[in-house]
Amino acid sequence: MESNITHGLWEATANGKPDLKSLQRDIKTEVAIIGGGYTGLSAALQLSLAGKDCTLLEANHVGFGGAGRNVGLVNAGLWLMPEDVIKLVGQKHGEQLIRILGASPDLVYGNIKKYGIECEPWHHGTLHCADSRAGLKALQEREKQWMALGAPVKLLNREEAAEKLGTRAFLGALLDKRAGTIQPLSYAYGMAGAALKEGAALYDRTPVLDLKRENHSWHLTTPSGSVRAKSVIVAVHGYPEAAFKDQMKNIVPFNYFQFATPPLDPDILKTVLPGKNGAWDTNLILSSYRLDEAGRLIIGSVGKVEGTAWNLNRAWAKRSIKKVFPQVGNIEFEHGWFGRIAMTTNHIPRFHIMGKNMAMVTCYNGRGIGPGTVFGKLLAEYISGGSVEDIPLPVSEIKPVSMRTLRGLFYEAGSRLYHFVQRRI
Ligand SMILES: Cc1cc2nc3c(=O)[nH]c(=O)nc-3n(C[C@H](O)[C@H](O)[C@H](O)COP(=O)(O)OP(=O)(O)OC[C@H]3O[C@@H](n4cnc5c(N)ncnc54)[C@H](O)[C@@H]3O)c2cc1C
Repeated sequence: MESNITHGLWEATANGKPDLKSLQRDIKTEVAIIGGGYTGLSAALQLSLAGKDCTLLEANHVGFGGAGRNVGLVNAGLWLMPEDVIKLVGQKHGEQLIRILGASPDLVYGNIKKYGIECEPWHHGTLHCADSRAGLKALQEREKQWMALGAPVKLLNREEAAEKLGTRAFLGALLDKRAGTIQPLSYAYGMAGAALKEGAALYDRTPVLDLKRENHSWHLTTPSGSVRAKSVIVAVHGYPEAAFKDQMKNIVPFNYFQFATPPLDPDILKTVLPGKNGAWDTNLILSSYRLDEAGRLIIGSVGKVEGTAWNLNRAWAKRSIKKVFPQVGNIEFEHGWFGRIAMTTNHIPRFHIMGKNMAMVTCYNGRGIGPGTVFGKLLAEYISGGSVEDIPLPVSEIKPVSMRTLRGLFYEAGSRLYHFVQRRI
């Protein structure tokens, strides 16, 4: 089996990896972007489209963080139900956030189409599957709230769900036609290609070691060079390194693993997720199911796959496939990998600014493909002179004193893993 336990299948099948150099000199730029995931790449694309000089610095390679490890479900909205979003961030921000993230798959699939990104885009909807009566009830409520907002969602009964899923394991499923799946690392590579095409400068293997405000500009230190910038966008999310390492203390880390089978036999493939929908269930410890373009079945759940957890979780994945898709039979896996999801205690992403020339967003709570693409764009617009009113999240101001102060203003982590999982249903 493939031994890459970080990016697994996505690394093995990714298209369009950009050939980026590391920064080896001192440069000046209008906007420095730290982090090459969806947020940073979307910001770089938006800034270069607006004719701004921008430079993205990535500690490893673009897509190294959550962007290269995730399930690839392009969801509409946050995990939270719309009414909870409004309760937590207020009517004005809440309505704006629901509307903008509800439409975020269109931005993702729009970028894919515009730039010809080869990332296995399937825009057929996703299925949130009820594995218990309580789960079904929660989906009924979810359907009610989204339908009240005019969203194209439909709760399928057991028979209808079985037809789309290729299994009778679930009591029903909420079909969300706005959503879909992608090859997530290929999308990150494609966004990097798009940003380069539009004129952005991107560097791999360039961790920002230090960040200081000096003489009305930002000074970023990297191992073999430096960057002086008028403004900075920080997009390090759940994989903070070097200057941002201590931010790990301020997120609720949550690991999620996936295993991928070899391409299924064509006759069996016709019967597994025949609607090509990405799916996940309402269980306390949620599981996800999807196909890739070659017909591999990819199953995921909560936890890591390293050390002793590898065998334990592989055995769980095999048992689960037998239970949910018995037609697949006893099958081995080609790839196994995992990643770290960055959570907040209230499940709302955090947005921080320092005046008009530094902005950051963090913690998409396991839904970052659409939100990362959206918030990257919004951060670029804010840094280019936009209004904070256009960003649908409450703002925390950061005082320009030191990284320690900056760290201190990140939210307090603390909710237990079990709590997080419980909120998923
Ligand atoms: C296992 C897993 C499953 C998930 N499933 C889904 C899903 O199905 N659908 C969905 O929408 N979302 C999903 N997510 C969440 C999604 O992947 C993330 O929300 C998203 O990747 C966040 O994008 P980002 O650009 O903000 O951060 P990231 O993609 O994490 O990128 C941050 C980057 O910053 C870089 N960096 C860190 N420190 C520095 C530094 N000092 N200098 C320079 N660069 C630095 C890192 O190397 C990294 O590449 C999942 C996440 C994981 C881990």
